[in-house]
Amino acid sequence: MGWIEVIVGPMFSGKSEELIRRLRRAEIARQRVQIFKPVIDQRYTVNGIVSHSGLEISSDLVKDASEILTKVEPRTEVIGIDEAQFLGEALVEVCTKLADMGKRVMVSGLDTDFMGRPFEPMPRLLAVAEEITKLLAICVRCGNPAVNTQRLVASEDLIVVGAAGMYEARCRRCFEPQLATQKIEEEKKTAVKSRAASG
Ligand SMILES: [Zn+2]
Repeated sequence: MGWIEVIVGPMFSGKSEELIRRLRRAEIARQRVQIFKPVIDQRYTVNGIVSHSGLEISSDLVKDASEILTKVEPRTEVIGIDEAQFLGEALVEVCTKLADMGKRVMVSGLDTDFMGRPFEPMPRLLAVAEEITKLLAICVRCGNPAVNTQRLVASEDLIVVGAAGMYEARCRRCFEPQLATQKIEEEKKTAVKSRAASG
């Protein structure tokens, strides 16, 4: 029988490592495994899930969730999907279909965005999953358990791919959801000042 298991949490909580660990165990058990990740996440490598600690496992790149259905081979027993928050609305339907076909579907992704808002489609995927693991990071400010991904750069785009230096883990108390917006305002003011100075 198939099922869906989801690993969520902020950046730096070890989601990819946990996914890789489960996939490796399936491989050791001689199950047929296929791994997918969105083409948008090209940090460190083109083909392969890489965790922040450097663990790696080879994967197929896909543009969106529906492409996974076309690439899954009938004999595959276990499917791993990393950075799933970038795969779009159809992900829930795709995972459900694969689980209904009798496959074990493991999905890892961010459950909240840089503002602390639910990051679709992960919340809906959690609702239909058989098993949920929520990992916490460590707050870089105070050392408490961290649920939030703090963006440190000036951008309000939902997706800004990056790692160390652009994001850090923060706890509920230290999280500053408006920081990215404040930085945009600061940059505007600086730009106006420098224009006034030069003109
Ligand atoms: Zn903190």
